[in-house]
Amino acid sequence: MLTLTAENKKTLFYILIAFAFSVAMRFIWVYQFGDYAPFHFHNQLMINTNDGYFWAEGARDLLSGTGTNPDAKEFYDKFHQLNDLSPVTTAAAQLTAFFAKILPFSFESIIFYMPVFLSSLVVIPIILIAKALKNLEMGLIAALLASIAWSYYNRTMAGYYDTDMLNIVLPMFLLWSIIWAVKTNKDIYLLFTALDILVYRWWYPQSYSLEFSFFGLILAYALIFDRKNLYNYKLLAIMMFAMMNTHGYIRLGFVLAAFYTFKQEKYDKYLYYILVASVLGFFVTGGFEPIWAQLKGYVFRDSVSSTDKGLGLHFFTVMQTVREAGHIPFETFANRISGNTVTFIISLLGYVYLLYKQRVMILSLPLLGLGFLAYVGGLRFTIYAVPILAFGMAFLITEISQKFIGKIKFLFMMLLTLGVLYPNYKHIEAYKVPTVFNANEVKVLDALGKKANRDDYVISWWDYGYPIRYYADVKTLADGGKHSGAVNFPVSYMLTHTQKEAANMARLDVEYTENKFKFQKEHKKEIEDKNLTIFSNIEDMTKDYGFKNTNNFLRTLASNIKLPKKTRDIYFYLPYRMINIYPTVALFSNLNLMNGAKGKQPFFFASRNFKDLGSKIQLAQNIFVDKRTLQLTLGNKTLPIRRFVKTYYTKGMQLHKEVQLVNFSSDISVIYMQNYNTFLLVDEKTYNSLYIQLMVLQNYDKNLFEPVIMAPSVKVYKLKI
Ligand code: MN
Repeated sequence: MLTLTAENKKTLFYILIAFAFSVAMRFIWVYQFGDYAPFHFHNQLMINTNDGYFWAEGARDLLSGTGTNPDAKEFYDKFHQLNDLSPVTTAAAQLTAFFAKILPFSFESIIFYMPVFLSSLVVIPIILIAKALKNLEMGLIAALLASIAWSYYNRTMAGYYDTDMLNIVLPMFLLWSIIWAVKTNKDIYLLFTALDILVYRWWYPQSYSLEFSFFGLILAYALIFDRKNLYNYKLLAIMMFAMMNTHGYIRLGFVLAAFYTFKQEKYDKYLYYILVASVLGFFVTGGFEPIWAQLKGYVFRDSVSSTDKGLGLHFFTVMQTVREAGHIPFETFANRISGNTVTFIISLLGYVYLLYKQRVMILSLPLLGLGFLAYVGGLRFTIYAVPILAFGMAFLITEISQKFIGKIKFLFMMLLTLGVLYPNYKHIEAYKVPTVFNANEVKVLDALGKKANRDDYVISWWDYGYPIRYYADVKTLADGGKHSGAVNFPVSYMLTHTQKEAANMARLDVEYTENKFKFQKEHKKEIEDKNLTIFSNIEDMTKDYGFKNTNNFLRTLASNIKLPKKTRDIYFYLPYRMINIYPTVALFSNLNLMNGAKGKQPFFFASRNFKDLGSKIQLAQNIFVDKRTLQLTLGNKTLPIRRFVKTYYTKGMQLHKEVQLVNFSSDISVIYMQNYNTFLLVDEKTYNSLYIQLMVLQNYDKNLFEPVIMAPSVKVYKLKI
């Protein structure tokens, strides 16, 4: 029978308190939007991270189990469509499908609440680590702080359904297990450490760098402080086996065999052979390769995206538009780790003091280091430093409180803890992020999914790729993981060029995409052996149509060209919200691929914050439209406009438009979308673009497009060619 010691009871009690606190704080957002209909679908709040729809697609497919993949060889391949990029083999999809199978909640509820409960598990290793240091109060305080600290909250809040929900939990368990291993030298922690590495690698394949740093640190720790202790080498060997670059089950086999051997003293004489074998196994299986590749990536950071073979096309890189990558100000960095600059600095001092008092905490340095990488590598890394610095703060609080006794001590500890929690609570209260899509958009996708075939393509900007695939179960050309300059070019081209050019490009790009999948599959060995370059679709098209200059090929798209055989239907998904990013979308195709020169920026301006001043309408601080003369004033320049267009919905929700031609010498048109409360100023090229013509004006070419769903928030068309 299991009897709990007083210490174990206290540990359990603290874990329960911290877990409940972490979950409760994540319900604040749920209550804030509990009645807000635009955030709901199928009677549940929708998720608020785009990437979540990727895992959700995989889980949905695993559960539905009705794939139409004719090439299915592997078990998993039977659950989805060929080349639909559904991530059925990923851990996040599999764990989600598992929960959906065993729990009595809807799928929508599962994905929405998974981050709430899984991320809160972080309190367990935190409190257990503190137990090893014989300071349970420090564990409780650190757990309360770490579980809700700014960036950890942001990336694990309700609806933030992404791998982050376990990305700190698993390495913290790893840290717990190596700390206990080093401190107690008990055999069981050899197994825990190895199993944690296996699970962590399954969940997050990029975990190798952190595992490798832990390995290096234990090696250094062993060599410096504890050279004669055989246990350390057992730990290192079993970690190496767990870190090999082979299938998880093979590694599990090695780990179990090593554990069996290490438990028996009579085999200790073979320990060094086993250690050497594990290191060899690690290198021979290519365990070091991803680490080496990453190091190389840092040293030779490459920003040029042209290829040196073939036509050497120059594409726009996504990095040029992503803001996350740049340097971040110190205050943001500190806030995201500890909730406040002052708390951050005190936590850091507390951490140094903790290292001095508890040498074993040196093992937590890789996590702190990875967190500090955020300073150069981007905000998303800050979460790794959160629990480590929470220890620093919690340690100081308990040390200071030691000066007092009895109730005063308890009161003091509580006050200080509330003080460090407060800025993080304020952040949570104010952090009202929206869901990825709103209910109207999702209704459109739901309806589209019922009309479209699962092998059809839906074309839209990459931002909308994952949600489109999740709600409509179709294929997309671009998504949150597939959006290089070469992939984005044709999509950007379609959205910002004429209907004829867009239609031709759509058929070409979809068929070329499918053919490329086929080619890569059929010639897999050849491609790997000869290291063949896979060219962009646009380069292949250029060559196939007999051109050496892509610009000449693109010019032919305005005419009737011979298109590849149609293998499936193609839909265009054109949301109103794309108005906000139209200029960014345009960047990707507004360049000369032959030399990388950027084209003239399109004139595009949207205003929702306009004022009727009687004779004029003010669109922005110094942009006015004169109602009588229909002239446009931009700063101190006054110019005529080409046309004034007003769109509005009738009672039967039919879109009507009034077009007033004003001056043909002007390049700029004004579009007033009355029901959207939006003014647009666009140049002639933008006016004629597929997006403006089909989404804003519903001026579609009947030979090329057929309207499918005409909701105000999204217009969906089917390609007829
Ligand atoms: Mn599919």
